[in-house]
Parts: sequence; C-alpha cells; structure tokens
Amino acid sequence: MKLFYKIYAFLIVLLVFILAGAGYFSYHRETKLFHNDMIKDAQILGEAMSGMVGHAWKHSGPEKAVALIRDANSKAESISIRWVNLTPSVNGSHVPIAPPERLKPVLQGRSISLVVKSGEQSPCRLTYVPVKTGDDFQGAIELCESLMPLTAYTRNTLRYHLITGLMIMLAAGGLLWFHFRHWINRPLMQFIEKSRKIGQGDLAPDLVVKGHDEFATLGQTLNSMCRDLSASREAVRLENERRIEAMEQLRHSERLAVLGRLSAGMAHELGTPLNVISGRAKQIRSGALGSVEVIEFSNIIDEQAQRITKIVNNLLAFARRRKPKRSLQDMEVIVNQVLDMLREAADKSKVVFKIIRQGQISSVSVDVLQIQQVLTNLVLNGIQAMAAGGCLEVVLAEEKKQHPEADMDEKSYLAIHVQDEGPGISLEHLSHLFEPFFTTKDVGEGTGLGLSIAYGIIQEHGGWIEAENRSGKGACFTVFLPLDSPS
Ligand code: ADP
Repeated sequence: MKLFYKIYAFLIVLLVFILAGAGYFSYHRETKLFHNDMIKDAQILGEAMSGMVGHAWKHSGPEKAVALIRDANSKAESISIRWVNLTPSVNGSHVPIAPPERLKPVLQGRSISLVVKSGEQSPCRLTYVPVKTGDDFQGAIELCESLMPLTAYTRNTLRYHLITGLMIMLAAGGLLWFHFRHWINRPLMQFIEKSRKIGQGDLAPDLVVKGHDEFATLGQTLNSMCRDLSASREAVRLENERRIEAMEQLRHSERLAVLGRLSAGMAHELGTPLNVISGRAKQIRSGALGSVEVIEFSNIIDEQAQRITKIVNNLLAFARRRKPKRSLQDMEVIVNQVLDMLREAADKSKVVFKIIRQGQISSVSVDVLQIQQVLTNLVLNGIQAMAAGGCLEVVLAEEKKQHPEADMDEKSYLAIHVQDEGPGISLEHLSHLFEPFFTTKDVGEGTGLGLSIAYGIIQEHGGWIEAENRSGKGACFTVFLPLDSPS
C-alpha cells in the first residue's frame, strides 16, 4: 500500500492548498463585508444624529446637544456614542480617541471611519460624523464599535475551515483507500504475482483482470506475452533438442571412426584368445589328456572366453548410443578402461602406458562414455604422435586453477595430463588444435574433429582442455574437470 500513501500525501497537500486558498479569500471577502456593514450602520446612525444634535446645539445650547448624545448612548447596545471636540478644549474633556492628524477631513465636514488599537484596549472601529454647530464644524459624533465580534468570527471561521478540511481529508482518504484497494491494489498485486511466476518459468496465460481500463489491457498484454514466450520457449527447446541430437550424432560418428581405426588391432586382439581356445579345445577332444589337464585346459578356455567378452563389451560400450548421464566416478578406473582398449594399438606402435596418481583423488561427476571418448582421442593422438614408440603418461592430480573463460575465483579441479614423447605441436598449429576439421594427418587417418568434440564435452562438464609442448619431450594435453560440480 506504499503507493496509496504516496497518492494520499499528494492529495492532502493539494487539499491543504485548495482549502487554505479558498478559506483565505472567503475570510477576506467576509471581513470586508463586515467592515462595510459596520461603517454603513455607524454612518447612517451618526448622520441621523448629526442633524438632531446640530439643531439642538443651535436652539437649546451645547449642554442639551451633548445630553441628547448621552441619552442615545445609554440606549445603544453594541456601540458607544460620544460628543468630541475637534478643537482642543480648555478642560481637556471630549477628546477624540483617534489621533488629531487623522481627523482633518472631519473638520472639513466629511465623515471618516478608521480602526484603532491603543494599548491594552481591544481593537475598535471609530466613525466620526461632523456636527455643524455654527458656520464651521467644532465637534463631531464619535461612534465606537468594538471589533471583538469580528475576532470571534475570525476564530470561528478558522475552526470551521479546520474541521471541514479535516473531514474532507478523512473522507477523501477513505474513498481513495476503498477505490485504491479495489481498482489499483488488487490488479497490481495480480501483476506482481504473475511477474514472479513468469520469473519462475510459469508462462500460463491465466491472468484475469476484469473491466475495460488500462489494467485490463495490461493483463491482456501480459497474457499474450506469456503465450508468445511459451511458444518461443517451445521453439528453443525443440531447436536445442535437435542441436543436441545432431551433436550426439557427430560424437557418435567420431567414436565409430575411432573404432574403425582400432579395428585392425581389435581383430588381432580377439584372434589371440580365439587361437588359444581352439588349440586347447582340440587337445581336450583328442582324449589324450588326463583329468587334471582337462580341468586346467577348461579353465584356460574359460579365461580366454572371458577376455573376449571383456573386449567385445568394451567395444560395444564405446560404440553404443545413449543419452548423456552424469554420476560420481573414480577417474583412475575410467583411465584404465581406456588404456585397456587401446593397449593393442599401443603395442603395435611400441608405446607403453604409465598411470601416475599424485595424492588422493576425489571422485568426479562425469558422463563415463563421454569422458572415455575424450581420453581415447587424447591417448590415440599421443600414440599416433610417437611413430618410433615411447612412453605415454597419464597423470592424475587435484589442482587449484582459475577457469580461463569464466570470471571466477580459483577452484579445485581434477587435472588429467596426457603426455607423450612425440615431436610436440608446432607453434603455428597450437592455436588451431581445437578447431573443427583441423588435422595434419592424411586422409583416412584423421578427421580433425576429435579435439573439437573433446573440448565441447569437457566444456559441458564445466571444465576445459589445455595443450602445450613439454620441454623437448613431446606434447601434453590436460583436461580440467571441476570437483564441485553437481552430479
Ligand atoms: P585428428 O586426430 O583426426 O587429426 P584431432 O582433432 O584429434 O583430429 O587432432 C587435430 C590435430 O592436432 C592433429 O591432426 C595433430 O596435428 C594435432 N595433435 C593432436 N594431438 C597431438 C599430439 N599428441 N602431438 C602432436 N600433435 C597432436
């Protein structure tokens, strides 16, 4: 309701201005009328008496004239009437209340009216009506009317305006509050609630704002915005699905290409146990063996069959397509699986493998098949780089690093260094390694997709891959995987 208080405060300021202005003007008009009435009444009375007093003065003498005034004064209720001398008298009596300099017009026969406030005395209006006592105006009738009723009237008017103003403000506040609650606050709350839901992903166009005002239009606009957003979200979702599907397809093709490259070695790897099985089976069938030897040969056949099963399972797992799924894994196990699968290819190239684990290595949340694909590519590249054979090391270590592409603090990463003893990478190639279709290999040997796909996979895992030359000792590819990523 903060908005209500703001509007109400504004309204109060406006009302105070309007009421104060209206009160001020009406007060001025009324007091002016009050004064005019007082002047008029006093002048009418004064002039009526002036004639009589002048006549009495001439025919019955000054005492009679003053007595006439005194008599009139005793009968008047709210006005005091006096005879005043306009010229200073000998005994100092009948002195006017008004200062002499203001009475000059009266000496010339004109009535005047003025307000005086002297000392402790309350303010009063004095009206002087000249009385013709002879040829000139020696004296005048002084009519003095207290302004106390005007002060009381002022006080009452002020109180009346204050109370009316207060009541208007209260009534305006109540009316505003009622309308605000119904016509502004309720739809506003609906909009706030809907915006919160939109922020949380709820794009249902279910906002109902009744009426035909701007709020109803805004409600309809929000609903149609929700419908548009929902449609574009669906389009983005479908597009994403298609993109992921295409990427998975590409990764799968690359896996099959690797399998193709390994197939010759695989045939040889399967051939060895098959030969052993066949030879031992023939010897058992000849019947020339004793029972102990038959048991021993049967065990050998079983062992070789298990070896074949393991090789075939590894191949199937590698070639299989499935949705990516992450779980906490021991990276050393995955590295061993990859090296097992590539051992035949390594043997052919006179390459030996070495795994080094530096310190305790925590489990890491990964998709096994994807990481196998990355490591297979790096190890196979290493083997291919060592034409004359050598040692391929896989070093596992936990390292504190700062992500090169994200503005983050240092974090713990699992680093998998794959280092070979080949010729290394030339400087001109170093910056292009992870570009799709970048290859230095002959047609049929390389697609140039392996490293770019590997980079994409590791990036999706929240990590990155670095490539560098070891000092005079081949290339080193390092995969960094975050250790605190959600599974
Ligand atoms: P491909 O192996 O099909 O060529 P990759 O993307 O895996 O595609 O590799 C791209 C290029 O990176 C390779 O052609 C090679 O020139 C270079 N490369 C990759 N690994 C190594 C390595 N261990 N030593 C030297 N060069 C390498």
